[in-house]
Amino acid sequence: FMTAEIIDGKRIANTVKDEVAAAVLQRTAAGFPPPGLATVLVGNDPPSHIHVRNKTKTCEKLGIRSFSHLLPEDTTQEVLENLIGQLNSNPDVHGILIQLPLPEHLEPYHLLSLIDPRKDVDGIHPVNAGLLSRKESTPWFIPCTPAGILYLIHSIEPDITGLEAVVIGRSAIVGMPTAQLLCRNNATVTICHSKTVDLPKICRRADIVIVAVGQQNMVKGSWIKPGAIVIDVGINHVPDNSDPRGYHLTGDTDFESILPIAKAITPVPGGVGPMTIAMLMQNTYNAALRFD
Ligand code: NDP
Repeated sequence: FMTAEIIDGKRIANTVKDEVAAAVLQRTAAGFPPPGLATVLVGNDPPSHIHVRNKTKTCEKLGIRSFSHLLPEDTTQEVLENLIGQLNSNPDVHGILIQLPLPEHLEPYHLLSLIDPRKDVDGIHPVNAGLLSRKESTPWFIPCTPAGILYLIHSIEPDITGLEAVVIGRSAIVGMPTAQLLCRNNATVTICHSKTVDLPKICRRADIVIVAVGQQNMVKGSWIKPGAIVIDVGINHVPDNSDPRGYHLTGDTDFESILPIAKAITPVPGGVGPMTIAMLMQNTYNAALRFD
């Protein structure tokens, strides 16, 4: 009887963060300025506030300066454009992160395209997205969640050359860049989305399944090839009176039914989430190095 290894994203993220903290310390001891990360959050979306707070708290722990910009829901496009311009030219700021989603009246992809690509620690600027999609070129930054996903896969399978990967979800921040990153690493990649026909069948041929949809319990054990690696990116809030927050978090997989079939699976929480923040810290450190 086999049971899947539960990939401890929290522990792996802690080792990455320890490495970044040591590198930051060495850097500042040598007289260089600390890396700086600016976060921009517009409006009152509660999960976004939690995400940004986690990011700024982690910065502080690692010796990275954080510049937190919390703006009201009715902030105009023009105010944001000016803020991005200021952050681009501020030498203390090496990384700029605009927390998504933005309120309806703002046009996110236009705003993201105004970030200096060398400060685009989320790897979402069209220049970085374009460079990621082209095998011969190196982006300034690889988006944090995809980078964290690859790191976790490598902890189980150091070489994914020739493996079949199925990515469910094609968003600009998770699904699509994850597919491109796996392809750059020589996996054979299939991208699935809401219009895909017979998802379970496609899933069953995968050695690596990445689920980034936002639908709890979607991927079942019966969809999984025995011995596959399953990465669950989803973060779903389930109402729960027994939890002091009034909800608990769950992913996009039917975790229990996958355990007896897969080789390894990430839990939610404690899988991809902590890795996303660790990779953001690493990207911010790398950004600072390039400005020295
Ligand atoms: P989006 O809503 O932008 O994208 C969801 C994708 O899933 C879309 O491509 C959509 O297809 C596809 N999809 C929706 N329904 C189905 C279905 N029934 N079958 C197959 N595909 C479907 O979400 P994100 O990519 O931003 O995030 C995905 C999940 O990951 C969310 O739960 C989010 O909270 C979480 N997340 C977690 C992070 C972490 O650090 N752990 C970081 C970022 C996100 P279509 O394109 O056709 O609409």
